[in-house]
Amino acid sequence: SWAHIPQGQPDAILGITDAYKKDTHPKKMNLGVGAYRDDNGKPYVLNAVRKAEQKIIQNKLDKEYLPITGLPAFTQEAALLAYGKDSEPLQEGLIAVTQSISGTGALRIGGVFLNRFYPYQKKIYFPTPTWGNHGAVFKDSGFEIAQYRYFDKTTNGLDFEGFMEDIRNAPKNSIFLLHACAHNPTGVDPTSQQWDQISKLIKERGHFPFFDMAYQGFASGDIDRDAYAVRKFVSDGHRIALSQSFAKNMGLYGERAGAFSLITENPKEKAAVDSQLRLVIRPMYSNPPVNGARIASYVLSDPELYKEWQLMRKKLKHHLVEDFESKLPWNHITDQIGMFCYTGLKPEQVERLTHDYHVYLTKDGRISIAGISSSNVKYLAEAIHEVSK
Ligand code: PMP
Repeated sequence: SWAHIPQGQPDAILGITDAYKKDTHPKKMNLGVGAYRDDNGKPYVLNAVRKAEQKIIQNKLDKEYLPITGLPAFTQEAALLAYGKDSEPLQEGLIAVTQSISGTGALRIGGVFLNRFYPYQKKIYFPTPTWGNHGAVFKDSGFEIAQYRYFDKTTNGLDFEGFMEDIRNAPKNSIFLLHACAHNPTGVDPTSQQWDQISKLIKERGHFPFFDMAYQGFASGDIDRDAYAVRKFVSDGHRIALSQSFAKNMGLYGERAGAFSLITENPKEKAAVDSQLRLVIRPMYSNPPVNGARIASYVLSDPELYKEWQLMRKKLKHHLVEDFESKLPWNHITDQIGMFCYTGLKPEQVERLTHDYHVYLTKDGRISIAGISSSNVKYLAEAIHEVSK
């Protein structure tokens, strides 16, 4: 019997979508999960993705198994996108890269690999706060979880001093998980000068940087600018680990296209790492799905969508300040970047937003900007204003 099994908690983010689906109110909004929506709130697929799909059908591509580490055309392009064509380790062929089940799968491959081979503490430092699934992914990979200071609630900005102090005070050779850009859930990133200092201090302390890049192209709208931290660390000589997701920047959520990579010191080391990545992956899921990787390898990201979002942030702030005369400072809505905005709403205000206004979001007050449209932005502003007065 399974009677001894306690009821598990619903997922903090995906559980919201379930609740949203059950709600029958005509004005309901789902701002929980970060996914593109059109002006009618319906899922939106990028034109470039539609075109890639047509090509795939026209070319009558087969459905054979991919190699364990995935589609080479995709992994090469993924590495190029992240590290850039001028990257030395890329040019020298020293980056071990594998396709993954999107960003989550990349983190998990990294977690299992590091748990097996990282020679120091099996403990990983996350920013406070961080994406809701980081803890579970690394706990299930055998890691102990620790935190570093990141978000300053008093300014709704970065706690840079606290961040640096925590890097300094962590035991040497600690693993630091860093959001490469468009930090989730806060939308607050270090400046490039701050990244330079962070890189230097992490180097001095011998820490290992594990970058999670789930939003390349979303923070600034510029693929290269969003890769600043990753590329700076690499050019400073860090041999980083990197998780990449194509869920958001290409809107490929359900296709599960991602990549995990690790910089090695020499060809012999790279061959050994590649072989061990295969041994990590083979018993987990054998080999990755082919379709999303094919689509991603055809597509380039669409700068138009980024513009749409920036516009949506401006509209939300405008309605709050101008139409509803909210007395609260809402600058962070337009200062923060990426797919999410950390509104600063308290849990009881979030609850009212959901209960009274049918607006669904995570308890920490995070809203997905991609879920707002020109037809509901004013309704949202009014609702936020009402619960935060
Ligand atoms: N890391 C962060 C910070 C994220 O926000 C996400 C997506 N919400 C992921 C990783 C992974 O997402 P996916 O597995 O859909 O690529």
